[in-house]
Amino acid sequence: MRTPGSQSSLHRANLERVVRAVRMAGSLTQAEIARSTGLSAATVSNIVRELKDGGTVEVTPTSAGGRRARSVSLSGDAGIVIGVDFGHTHLRVAVGNLAHQVLAEEAEPLDVDASSAEGFGRAEAMVERLIVTTGISRQKVVGVGLGVPAPIDVESGTLGSTSILPGWTGINPGDELSRRLGVPVYVDNDANLGALGELVWGSGRGVGDLAYIKVASGVGAGLVIDGRVYRGPGGTAGEIGHITLDESGPVCRCGNRGCLETFTAARYVLPLLRPGHGADLTMERVVQLAREGDPGCRRVVADVGRHVGSGVANLCNLLNPSRVVLGGDLAEAGELVLAPIRESVSRYAIPSAARQLTVLPGALGGRAEVLGALALVLSEMGDSTLLEGALTAGAPAFT
Ligand SMILES: [Zn+2]
Repeated sequence: MRTPGSQSSLHRANLERVVRAVRMAGSLTQAEIARSTGLSAATVSNIVRELKDGGTVEVTPTSAGGRRARSVSLSGDAGIVIGVDFGHTHLRVAVGNLAHQVLAEEAEPLDVDASSAEGFGRAEAMVERLIVTTGISRQKVVGVGLGVPAPIDVESGTLGSTSILPGWTGINPGDELSRRLGVPVYVDNDANLGALGELVWGSGRGVGDLAYIKVASGVGAGLVIDGRVYRGPGGTAGEIGHITLDESGPVCRCGNRGCLETFTAARYVLPLLRPGHGADLTMERVVQLAREGDPGCRRVVADVGRHVGSGVANLCNLLNPSRVVLGGDLAEAGELVLAPIRESVSRYAIPSAARQLTVLPGALGGRAEVLGALALVLSEMGDSTLLEGALTAGAPAFT
């Protein structure tokens, strides 16, 4: 029997701490595990040996700072994770293992808002196809991470704002996909997944506090605090698009005036340039033209950067993140947008908060969300099956 505080429950808690640290980091040396879990080097060494004997982790020789070290990662064949990302105009699926290796990835254009049934049908087909082409066993799939371009109500699992994805009204996307695939599905919005993706695979590696800003048809932020996504009780944390910048500014879709979104989101920005640049102008094209030196596009990209920077300054004062990662098409503009963001941050944030902040472009581009969906499963999945091997091998007395 396990009671809190007993030797065996303490032991299990330590096993879980080590597995969780490795699960999120991909691979860590034993010294890094000790640092991130607060366990002693001797305890980590014992636990790693036990997990290795149980088949949960793999240990490979490596070097850290010129010294020989042992790198610990979850066994690649311990489980498979799948990510499904619905963007407004695309569907992307990735298959990975618990050792953070991406085994296959595929994307296709999709008008996600047109019909949720078609969207789920295409996602199901793509997942089934990738399972076959990678030759993985279905039984190994521990979960699917699902990204949707709209806020998710944490309590009900349904889409929180129907104005963003009207074709999906009343749908519980997690239940729907889980019913089709027969595995647990974890759901989150695109900004939170972008934050997780960059945290685990991209520009946020090694950072505990991070804000991922995505400027697309709206503006959202995914917030990572102490290594975990902060969603708030209703799941709407990070809605920085509706920070008021100008009381007498344009009317926003939320009903207020002069929200950050009305100065930065594609639907408000593109009409400024269309008269001279054609009606089919996209944000991607604006960024490309800005890079080629088009003065109008450069001006608009810089203005967007300054306004995003005001929002980031507010975030800085509130949360003091050590890193802000810019995602979406806009990140491709590089310094053309990053420099104005930094300028606004240094102007509007309190100096102590601004000093500690690094603003970087995302490293993953359009893959941030689907890789974040893989990371979501790694973050949310339980450890029971992973620990089975180690625990049935017989828990020794040490902790
Ligand atoms: Zn608004």
